[in-house]
Amino acid sequence: MAAEIIDGRAIAAALRERVRAVVARAERTPGLATVLVGDDPASHVYVASKRRACEEAGIRSVHHELPAEVVEDELVELVAALDLDPDVDGILVQLPLPGDLDADRVLTQISPAKDVDGLTPANAGLLAQGRIGVAEALDLEPADPPLGLIPCTPAGVIELLHRSGVELEGAEAVIVGRSNLVGRPLASLLLGANATVTVCHSRTRGLDAVCRHADVLVAAVGRPKMIGGGWIKPGATVIDVGMNRTEEGLVGDVDYAGAAEVAARITPVPGGVGPMTIAMLMANTLRAARAHASAGSAL
Ligand code: NAP
Repeated sequence: MAAEIIDGRAIAAALRERVRAVVARAERTPGLATVLVGDDPASHVYVASKRRACEEAGIRSVHHELPAEVVEDELVELVAALDLDPDVDGILVQLPLPGDLDADRVLTQISPAKDVDGLTPANAGLLAQGRIGVAEALDLEPADPPLGLIPCTPAGVIELLHRSGVELEGAEAVIVGRSNLVGRPLASLLLGANATVTVCHSRTRGLDAVCRHADVLVAAVGRPKMIGGGWIKPGATVIDVGMNRTEEGLVGDVDYAGAAEVAARITPVPGGVGPMTIAMLMANTLRAARAHASAGSAL
């Protein structure tokens, strides 16, 4: 059986179009500030894609580039100034930061309302407590502004699962990876959707056997093709978050060819989760802008 391909490009394009349509009829143009430090080529590519997506969605993009040798205080001051800028609805500091720059200190300058990456303790806490979840990840125009913002990649995974009609209630979901960016917030989202969630990491024993239980298997590890077809339960849905640059190009954490023989549905790399992350960033910027407007701030 060859798995059905979950087409992240198409699902992301539809979401971006929905964002564009809402922005087009908004009274005020949302603004996203991107901050890029250093010369990591992958980070430059990601930020360029995000800025292009802003342009297509009708979102104003304000971009700041700083050298890798920047003094940390200068970076902190820039982010703090963006946080005070009424024309900026969302702030994205591209991670990882080079050298010894303290990402936690920099991100602390972003108020939760502008935290379109969902990484501040306030937003992470709301998600961990189940006070925000799948509804907030899926709804672009909620009647009431959401309490908080959800990280883009896990929210994008939820959108992919939702659009592919994957049943989460009561499903065994296994996530490999426990980062603050992907694994942990995704665990909270899937738990909120009433899946039974197992989160694995580098110390997990018998990882292959744990993965074989999964109705929904999410790989967010950063190790090329680590998860082979033999780790997958027949009929499972496999979501590959991994983006590994190798000699054969960009590959995921899942051995796609082997896994596609066993799974019912699978995301490709590229063309799966990656485009969703960018589309969700546009959605989060729109959500942040709507929340600012309805809070009656200077925006
Ligand atoms: P990360 O912070 O490095 O976390 C990796 C996680 O994988 C950690 O929890 C680590 O366990 C676990 N791990 C490492 N080796 C393992 C092993 N042999 N067995 C089991 N678990 C293992 O990475 P991340 O930021 O979450 O990113 C993960 C991958 O997703 C990367 O390839 C990244 O490029 C990609 N990514 C893609 C997108 C996208 O838009 N598509 C967005 C974000 C990330 P410990 O906690 O025990 O160390």
